[in-house]
Amino acid sequence: MEGNRRFLSLCALPASELARGLENGTFSSEDVTQAFLDHIALQNPALNVFLEVFEASAREESRASDRRRREGKPLSRLDGVPFAVKDNLCVEGRRCTCASRMLENYRPPYTATAVSRLQQAGMPLLGRVNLDEFAMGSSTETSFFGPSRNPWDPSRVPGGSSGGCAAAVAAGMTPVALGSDTGGSIRQPAALCGVAGVKPAYGTVSRYGLVAMASSFDQIGPLCKTSEDAAMVMNLLAGGGPHDMTADPALAADFTAGLDLPLKNVKIALPEEAFGQGLDADVERAVRAAAEVLKHLGAEVSFLSLPSLPLGLPAYLTLSCAEAGSNLARYDGVRYGHRASAAEINELYRESRREGFGMEVKRRILLGAYSLSEEHRAETYDRAVQARALLQKELERALEAVDMLLFPTTAGPAWPIGEKQDDPARMYLSDLYSVPANLAGLPALSLPCGLSGEGLPMGMTLMGGRTSLPLLFRAAARYEAACPLPRGSHPYERLTAVGQEGAQA
Ligand code: GLN
Repeated sequence: MEGNRRFLSLCALPASELARGLENGTFSSEDVTQAFLDHIALQNPALNVFLEVFEASAREESRASDRRRREGKPLSRLDGVPFAVKDNLCVEGRRCTCASRMLENYRPPYTATAVSRLQQAGMPLLGRVNLDEFAMGSSTETSFFGPSRNPWDPSRVPGGSSGGCAAAVAAGMTPVALGSDTGGSIRQPAALCGVAGVKPAYGTVSRYGLVAMASSFDQIGPLCKTSEDAAMVMNLLAGGGPHDMTADPALAADFTAGLDLPLKNVKIALPEEAFGQGLDADVERAVRAAAEVLKHLGAEVSFLSLPSLPLGLPAYLTLSCAEAGSNLARYDGVRYGHRASAAEINELYRESRREGFGMEVKRRILLGAYSLSEEHRAETYDRAVQARALLQKELERALEAVDMLLFPTTAGPAWPIGEKQDDPARMYLSDLYSVPANLAGLPALSLPCGLSGEGLPMGMTLMGGRTSLPLLFRAAARYEAACPLPRGSHPYERLTAVGQEGAQA
C-alpha cells in the first residue's frame, strides 16, 4: 500500500522534479519507471493511448540508469526520466504503424535521431502512443486503432494528431512525450489536454526517422507538464544530425539558461486578426488576461495587424496535401506497406492502397493530386506558394518590431468524440491558429492559460522569430510560475488523489 501511494505521487511530478529526485537519490529510475508502467496499465484500457508498452526494455534501461547514477556518471540531467514516442517515430526493431493499417506490421531497421538522442541521454523508453493516421487529423479519431480519449473528460477528444502524446502526459502516464507538428499537431493537443507543447523552428530537430507527412512543415518536439521540462528536453533534441540536411546546428541553445530572468523590455504583440469571429469567449478572455499578466511581469504588450493571417489555413491545406500525397506514394504494397492479394500489378497497387489507407488519408491524397494536376496547379498550388511567402514576410516584419506574438492555440476547448468527424472543413478549422508557425518555419509553444466554464483546459501560443525559442521558454516559464492551473484540477493530480484514497481504504 505504501508502495502504491508512493508510485502514484511520482507520476504527478514534472520531469524537472523527477530529475532532481534522481540526482539527490530520493528515488531510483527503477521506482519512477515502474510507477509510470503501473499507471499506464491502470489508465490505458479507458484512454486508449499506448499502442505498445515496452515494459521489459524500459525496466532494464531504468536499472542501467540507476547503475550510472550510483557510479556518479549520469549521461544527462534527464538520465533515468522515462519518455514515450508518437508512433510515427522509428525505433529499431519495434513496430512503427503511424496508426495505419498500411504499416500495421512495419518494423523500421533504424531509430529516429530524436529518439536516439533521448536514449543516449539515458531516458528509458516506455512505449509508442496513438495518433491520427499518418499524423493527418486534429482529434486522434482517424487512428486505425481507435480514438484516444481526453483524460480531463474521456467523452472528449484529446486533439491531434499527437493526441496520444498529450493524453499520456496529462494522465500522468509519462512525464515526456515526443510528438510531431506539421500544422499544429503538438500544440493543439497540448492545449486541449492542459500540457505544454513545443514546435521548434524548422530545422532545430533532425527529422531523420520521422515518417514524413509534409516535409517542408514537419518538426519533432516535446510535450511535457511544464515548459521548463520541455526546455530540458529541447536541450537534448536540438542541434542538427547527420541524415537531415535541413537540420541546423546553429539552432541549438541552452534553452533552460534564462528561464528565471525577468520579462523587462520583452515586447509581446497580440495580432488583432486572431481575436475575431469563431473564437470561444472563455478562450478569448483567458488569452487577454494572460496578456495582462505578462504585462505585470514586465513585458511590453501591444496589438498589431497581420492581414494575411486568414490565408494561412487554405495555403497550409493545399501545400501539405500536395507534399503528403507525394510522400505517401511509396506505400504501394511493393516497396512498403500492406499488400493486398491481386492478380496483376496495377490491381495490387490499387487494392493495397484501398485497403491500407483510411478515409482521411485518401482525401488528402486526392486533394494533393488535384492541386498538382496540370489544369488546377496555377490556381491552387502556385497561389498557395505565394500566400505562404506573403504570410512569411508579414510575420518576419512583425517580428522585427516585437519579440513574440501571443494568440490562442485553439478556438475552443476539447469537443465530444464524433462531433466533427464527418465534417472535415470544421475539423481543419481547428488548425487555424497553429499553421502560420509551420508555414513560416517559426518556433511556437503552447501552454495552459486556464480552465473554461466547463472546467476544460485552454491553451495560448507564444510564437517568435527563428532563434527566439529560448525567449519563448522564458516568457512561458514566468507565466506558468505566476498562473499555474488551479491546484488539484489536473488529471495527473486527481489520479494521484484517487490512488491515495484507494491505498488507504
Ligand atoms: N491537424 C493538422 C492536419 O490535420 C495538423 C497535422 C499535423 O500537424 N501533423 O493537417
